[in-house]
Amino acid sequence: MNRLFAPLLAASLLFSPLSAAPRKPSRAEQANAELKGQLLAHITELASDAYEGREPGTNGEAMTLRYLGKQWFDIGLESGTNDPGNPWFAPVTIVGREPDGSRAQFMRKGRRIILPANATLVLTSGKRGLVENAPILFVGDGKVVPPRAELAGRVALLLDGEEDGTSERQNALLKGGASAVLTVLDGDRSMDNVAGHRQRMGYFLAGEELGGDIEGFVTAAAFDKLLVGSGQTLVSLQKSADQPNFVARPLDLTVSLEATTRETRIKTHNVIGKIPGRHPELGAVLLVAHWDHFGRCVAPPAEDQICNGAVDNASGLAVLTEVARRLAKGPGMERDVYFLATTGEELGLLGAEAFAQDPPIPLGHIVAAFNIDTVAIGPAGQPIAIVGKGMTPLDAQIAAVAKAQKKKLVQDDKANAYVRRQDGWALLQHDVPAVMVSSSWGDIARVDAFMESDYHRPSDQVKPGLELGGAADDVLFLVALTRWFADPRKVPSRIAQ
Ligand SMILES: [Zn+2]
Repeated sequence: MNRLFAPLLAASLLFSPLSAAPRKPSRAEQANAELKGQLLAHITELASDAYEGREPGTNGEAMTLRYLGKQWFDIGLESGTNDPGNPWFAPVTIVGREPDGSRAQFMRKGRRIILPANATLVLTSGKRGLVENAPILFVGDGKVVPPRAELAGRVALLLDGEEDGTSERQNALLKGGASAVLTVLDGDRSMDNVAGHRQRMGYFLAGEELGGDIEGFVTAAAFDKLLVGSGQTLVSLQKSADQPNFVARPLDLTVSLEATTRETRIKTHNVIGKIPGRHPELGAVLLVAHWDHFGRCVAPPAEDQICNGAVDNASGLAVLTEVARRLAKGPGMERDVYFLATTGEELGLLGAEAFAQDPPIPLGHIVAAFNIDTVAIGPAGQPIAIVGKGMTPLDAQIAAVAKAQKKKLVQDDKANAYVRRQDGWALLQHDVPAVMVSSSWGDIARVDAFMESDYHRPSDQVKPGLELGGAADDVLFLVALTRWFADPRKVPSRIAQ
């Protein structure tokens, strides 16, 4: 209350006994205020600078795991790893790979042609890729893949052209038997474009099969230099490639291509808790939220270098934890309910993928998985959106719960535009019925606005007036949804009994 108006209000209370006295908040309002306070406390803690942006493998991870583990233990959850050697925290090893060395060396008739170092770039999907003195086969725009007998043992030379889809054409040539593909940047893309896209770190789960493909790029000017004395130019080759009767043909050139990749290993963890049900053999419900974010994401001298990830996804962890508290307090359930805080979501849904590859229960036992991501966006009272609407058998049951809870569902499927960008997608790839069910996502314009402003920036931090109305709605709805799906009389098992 503003101090200036306090005496006025006091006076009005004194002198107008007929006007309503300040109404005592209802029990529901009190509970809602308490819930929002709990959500804000989790988000404020997890998005504080002390957690350094919750980057996998850092002290920020250790703090995040400690906080979630203690909260969940105090609420009364049990470890859900089902691995006595690793209670609560399931180890996940992530490998970061970035291009390291790159070498391209051209020869004609035994003589080396020297090009400037920045005129070529060679990349490999493996640790080290090498082809030596391979003849070059000109394949034009590569839309027609030459026979394997022609491609084998040769480097396919491809025109980038003005069209998209070069990487599909490269892949088709590699699959067709080429030793490597060398792309001439004769279109819109410059070497800087390619390097900017491709020289970043890529992240994978340890143990994933490595390819050994080699891709090279050469600038148009450098390629013209390679052709000097051959009686051909880039323009004459482009013209020949445009002819309807074009067939791939060898150029009077050989090339050695070599690329190496630098690897960094990150030891990180998923957090898994559970509330045991009376009949675990009837399956389980899984609730998911990713704990990781980008850590220090901006280089000095910027004043704020930490991506705190308050909305993305401290808000989801807060909702997950408060759903757990309410489920643990209430009556016991028939099915097990698992709580999974994933690592590596921001690096490509890697923690969810690791969970699916090495699950604590057979994936077929999971009757439904509900992911919670970026939920401090919409106000209270919005209709509920399903991210993944129409992609699982869950929609009808979700609609039944909405009806029982007197909640409206969003009718369109605009939220599906985000379905590949959340952990539920990784689970869907393993045939686990997984969706996001959130009233915070009920107005997709608000989600889009967040994506265009604070998303993945240091400004995604706790600010005055952080919207928690939709997140509080989500807690109540997810509690009802989980209880419903944990009840085999309402939702039959996916597993044959
Ligand atoms: Zn994110």
